[in-house]
Amino acid sequence: MTEAHFVNHTHWDREWYFTTEDAQVLSDQLFSDVLKELEAHPAVNFTLDGQASIVDEYCAMHPEAPARIRKLVARGQLFIGPWYTQTDAMIPDAESIIRNLVIGILDTRRQYGQPMMIGYLPDTFGFNAQLPMLLNQVGIHDFIFWRGTNFKRQMNSVYFKWQGLGNNRVYAANFPFGYYTGQIAVDSKKDLKSFVENRLDQGIDFEAEHGNNDPVLVPSGIDQMNIVHNLEDTLAKVNQYSHNHVFISSYPAFMNTLRQRTDLPSYQGELRLPTYSRVHRTIGSVRSQFKRDNFQLEQLILKRVEPLIVIAQRCGIDLSTGVALRLWKKLLECQPHDTLGGSISDNVAEDVAHRFKEGFEIAEGLENYAKKRIAQRLDLTPHQLLVFNLTPRPFAGYKDVLILASSKRLHFAPKYKATIIASEKVAKREHIMQQTTKGFEFKDEPAYYKLTVRLWCQFDGLGYQVIAFDEKAARALPEFKSVSGETIKNNTWQVTFKNGQFSAKAADKTYANVLSILDSGNDGDTYDYSPLRGDSEKSLPLTGELTHQQVGETDQLILKGTWQLPKTLADRTAAKPELMAVPYTLSLSLKAGSPVLDGKLVVDNQAYDHRLRLQLRTGFKTDAALAKIQGGFHETKNLPIAADWEKEFVEKPVNLYDFDKIVGMHNQRHGLFLMAKGMKEYELLDGSVAVTLMATTGQLGKPNLLWRPGRASGDTTSIGHVMTPTPLAEELGENTFEFGLTATGKVDELALAKTAERWLEPSVGYQLQTLNLFINRLDNKLWPLEFDEGLPAIKATETFLQFDPSVTISALYPAYTVDHAVVLRLANQSAKAIDVTQLLKAGWLAANALEEVCEDQTKLQIGAYDMVTLIRKG
Ligand SMILES: [Zn+2]
Repeated sequence: MTEAHFVNHTHWDREWYFTTEDAQVLSDQLFSDVLKELEAHPAVNFTLDGQASIVDEYCAMHPEAPARIRKLVARGQLFIGPWYTQTDAMIPDAESIIRNLVIGILDTRRQYGQPMMIGYLPDTFGFNAQLPMLLNQVGIHDFIFWRGTNFKRQMNSVYFKWQGLGNNRVYAANFPFGYYTGQIAVDSKKDLKSFVENRLDQGIDFEAEHGNNDPVLVPSGIDQMNIVHNLEDTLAKVNQYSHNHVFISSYPAFMNTLRQRTDLPSYQGELRLPTYSRVHRTIGSVRSQFKRDNFQLEQLILKRVEPLIVIAQRCGIDLSTGVALRLWKKLLECQPHDTLGGSISDNVAEDVAHRFKEGFEIAEGLENYAKKRIAQRLDLTPHQLLVFNLTPRPFAGYKDVLILASSKRLHFAPKYKATIIASEKVAKREHIMQQTTKGFEFKDEPAYYKLTVRLWCQFDGLGYQVIAFDEKAARALPEFKSVSGETIKNNTWQVTFKNGQFSAKAADKTYANVLSILDSGNDGDTYDYSPLRGDSEKSLPLTGELTHQQVGETDQLILKGTWQLPKTLADRTAAKPELMAVPYTLSLSLKAGSPVLDGKLVVDNQAYDHRLRLQLRTGFKTDAALAKIQGGFHETKNLPIAADWEKEFVEKPVNLYDFDKIVGMHNQRHGLFLMAKGMKEYELLDGSVAVTLMATTGQLGKPNLLWRPGRASGDTTSIGHVMTPTPLAEELGENTFEFGLTATGKVDELALAKTAERWLEPSVGYQLQTLNLFINRLDNKLWPLEFDEGLPAIKATETFLQFDPSVTISALYPAYTVDHAVVLRLANQSAKAIDVTQLLKAGWLAANALEEVCEDQTKLQIGAYDMVTLIRKG
């Protein structure tokens, strides 16, 4: 007889094939019923799916609810948080996963009481190997989940200690049969004997046998499922039929029992094996635009908006953390497992696209506000540019700034090496109303140029400088000119296009045919890519018109061509296929002083149901790829897959892995790496790495895929369900993929991570506008202000923070819990501990991500593949 902790919960997808609004209508009645049942039965409890956002949304409809919720939380009857949303755990940035917890925990504490401090992710499609480290950042040491385990190959127990890439650890409890192992539906109540014999006891026995476990954990609930009424009576009846002993418990109570055990096995690595349930190993490229949007919005918040708010606050410009929090919440609402995975209906995809749009608007608005107010405080003219460095690290390199001017004859001091890299002429407009000292007059508005000007700038640290120019130069600034030859070069790279192939030379090594594009049919759906029976992946010809352009210290090759791709899946295997013209532009660009070869591929997709991949051919004789994930690097190899894999797995355990920003290969002396802006999935091919660009499909779920036999995911083939077309997931039209290549000597993980960090540093500039008040959306409504005379004086050049750690900077933002304080989070992406005690001497306090200050402030080390948070006042 096994003791079974029975935990009643609901799993609450915010959206899936139903929308967030649909889910809120369901929550209106369901959550009310939960509160009523808990108040009437003080001995029972309920877990509201570990995400605070759904509680907020319910309370917005029920103003009386927070007081009731606070009481139930305090009594240990209602468990909410710690997440803000049920996050995907493969695709988001490390900082998003941490912030999801920070915001969920702080919001819950402020409004409802102490959250459930367990990394509870009952349905997420696989877990990156660093999740223990990320959970530890907020003081969480327990993890409960379903998908991704294989007891035979991994940990031999449903309960184990899970270790990150370094020394961080959590106690982990798995539900091998899902979060519904003990689900008591109304029908089950009518025949409890059958429920106990056929489901409950089998689940309990499996958990007991896999790891010699007693007690075990039995979750009871399913998607959008109500609380079990009269649970005490029901469990009393269950115990009459069960050969085990089942009793009301909670997740925290069960995790406490695991802490007493000394016999738990340890496991290190990702949790992504599809043994007892699907993990959708190839969902990392479904609705690829959302993955790129997610990446861009993360970068916009982390690299631009948050450090800019820190600068604005130092300049006496009050920007609240409230708007920035609202921005984070928009992003976190785009990151739940179904949402960011893309396994949603098109109806929901429209909501997601809209949420991204809102996120970008808030981010751009905040940036616009901060920049214009600083420019106003400095009393700048339209001929004085404000240019920012948004990292505490010193900077020397190029920044690109948008300038509106009446001519191209701009004059900058020679040290800026100014060149025009993009220009557009805006035509003169006649008879335009203008407010003058005489009242309203009608005059002609002159023509002007929108110019992107590249300037060589130097900064000491986080801050800005004012760069003056005039329009009195004798000649126009230089612009791109076509030049002969098919080779571009800078001090690091030499890249040549010849006979339809790019070869690249860096240091003393040549990489032949370094980049190709692969195409194959996609018989999969919005959960997974799957190859088409009878089809094979092909390398697309790189033919077309090549231009070689130069300006200043920028050298670029642009290849424009058109691929002919089968229109539909049927055309892939047809004798006379219908072909679609798919135009593409591939640009490779080098700047002096940059170790990165910048790449951009624009594809005007006109073909259906296919997968495009970018192949990076390194030629290294190694069977391993090195990839950065959230907060560290790990090596992956192609594991053998048995011919009869279907006996062990419910989907093919294909060797497709997810990465975060960097993936590549290396040997003892050289390394070649691809850095990606939002591409997330790779596969190691012979001597090369294939990074998925997009995998398009027109179906929400399909049965019997080559890589995923059996039922359709999303149950679209279950009785009463309908097949759901997803034309938006075909991603027709223009798709832009940005990447960079970096070549190294012997690999140094810290250096590699820093190269990517530098590569992602944005160009942020601002010019006060007179020619067009709509070029920055809010300019026209940011009226001149009478600034408080007591504000600190600011100069034309300011440096507010200056340090250059050997580790990467995960985030720099205004503290949530302390006014006028700044939070800094550092990530050590290497296997050796790094000492950062000097920051404590510079006035920073060591803390956790919740901004709770540590006791020991005498020394500070960042362990292997770990992170630290610091906080500083003023
Ligand atoms: Zn779910």
